[in-house]
Order: sequence, then C-alpha cells, then structure tokens
Amino acid sequence: MQLDRLLIQTLESWHRAGVSELAQASEVQGLLEAAQAVPVTKARHAVPSTPAPTRLDVPSKSAPTHIQNTPSKPNHSEPITKTSAPQETIVTKPSLPQTMNREDRINCLAEIAGRVSKCTKCKELAETRTQTVFGVGNPEAKVMFIGEAPGADEDKQGEPFVGRAGKLLDKIIEACGWTREELYICNILRCRPPGNRNPSPIEADNCSEYLQAQIETVDPDYIVCWGTIAAQNVLNSKTPIGRMRGELFERGRARVLCTYHPSYLLRNPPAKKLVWEDLKILLAEMGIDPDKK
Ligand code: SF4
Repeated sequence: MQLDRLLIQTLESWHRAGVSELAQASEVQGLLEAAQAVPVTKARHAVPSTPAPTRLDVPSKSAPTHIQNTPSKPNHSEPITKTSAPQETIVTKPSLPQTMNREDRINCLAEIAGRVSKCTKCKELAETRTQTVFGVGNPEAKVMFIGEAPGADEDKQGEPFVGRAGKLLDKIIEACGWTREELYICNILRCRPPGNRNPSPIEADNCSEYLQAQIETVDPDYIVCWGTIAAQNVLNSKTPIGRMRGELFERGRARVLCTYHPSYLLRNPPAKKLVWEDLKILLAEMGIDPDKK
C-alpha cells in the first residue's frame, strides 16, 4: 500500500516536471526502485531527462526565433549582432542523433526515401511527377540547404538543385569554400508542382513530415533556406523573405539563415550581392573567414 502511494506520488511529480511517457520497461523498473528507495520530496528533484522523441515523430512547428550572438544563453527576442565575432556553440545536440553513426543515418534516410517514393498525399503532384526528389548529400552534414520544390530538371534527374539555378548554387557553394558532397540538400516538396508553380500550403504541410524526418536524421548545425517558400515553411512564418534575410534564426538546435533563391538571382543578378552578405553572416557564425579561402 505504501509502495503504491509512493509510486503514484512519484508519477505525479514526474508528470508535473514534463515527463509524459516512459520509453522503456527499464524506466518503469527504475521508477519502482525510486519509489521504494527515495522519499517523494527528493524524487521530485531526481527527474530523469525527458525521453528523446521517436526519431521520425513530427513535432509541431514552432515560431521562428531570433538569436543573439552571445557567449551565454541566447536571448530569443533579439536579432543577432551581425558584426560580432563568432562565439562558442550555445546549443547542445540532443542525445539521439549523437547515438546514430553514419550508417544508421544512411539507413534511416533510405527508409524515409522509400516511403517518399510511394507517397501520394498530394494527388496532383503524385500523378504528374516523373519521380520523387528526396534529397542528396552528406548524412552527417553540418549545413543543410533547403529549397522550394523540384523543377523540370530536378524531376527528370531525381536530384535537387540541378539545372541553371543548381549551377549558380554550385558557384555559391564554392565561394563559401564548401563542396556539394559535404552538405545535405533537399526541398520543402519532394514532387514537382506542375508548371513549376509555387507549392500550395497543403502540399507543403503534407510533405513536412519528410522534411522534419530528414532534419532530425541529419541533425545539421546550420540550415540555409533558399527563397520565400523554404524560409516561411521552415520557420512557420508569413514574413516576406526580404525581411527575414540578413539575420539568423533558431529552429530546434539549428541556426537558420534565410536568403534569396538562386532562381531569383538568375532573374535579378544584383541580388547576388545581398545573398553573399547573408552567407557571410553564416560563415562568420561558423568561424569561417571567406576572404581567407
Ligand atoms: S510532395 Fe511530398 S507529400 Fe506531396 S506527394 Fe510528393 S512526397 Fe508526398
């Protein structure tokens, strides 16, 4: 009877601390042992870390957060100081991705890609696509690029950012001192909208579970959103890209930069200068001096 009461009190204290479920039988066993060995008042302070979410669970979108470039805890309400020197990493990796080695991530991405290849959630896109365009690159990439949706070339080749916009992106990648192979590149949508129209909000929402799964698997330190569609969906915002560029945001533990899409740069070459300014903010945050490359 005493054990039951202690067990209930301990469960209640864990619940108040935010623990909503017990992932493993061993945790139940641990709880029983804690209820037997530790007074309830102490057990409240001995709450275990919150169980890690299932890797492919889709958390609800959170609003974008400006981050401040300070060595201590980030001030989530202030934009970063663009000219300040890069500071130490202030957000730690969640435990789950650290336990995944490269092979685990490759297998996980292959499993998601398999589901995507059969996906028919967007009827029109599923009926008109040549193939799905999942994503390519380093499964352990530090930097993830997210674009809008496959175009005609991508639909044909099954790879994001090929064609003219892709060629321009390659030049940008080179200017940053990176290679395609060290990045991970994907889109908001994995199927081409007919006529290269913008993805509808419903289509973007349909495909968000796959994007989220890719982000969780690769677990990048930095995300670059190319264009309005990517920026607004990744950060769950309606702010125009022109007002989102030029500063860093936070999504989960990743820092997010939003800038113009390479297709827009093909139509408006003067905007290349603005994109380079944006990328220099990211590079500075990463401790990279592009002029020394
Ligand atoms: S765009 Fe995404 S959600 Fe829509 S059919 Fe293609 S894979 Fe499925």
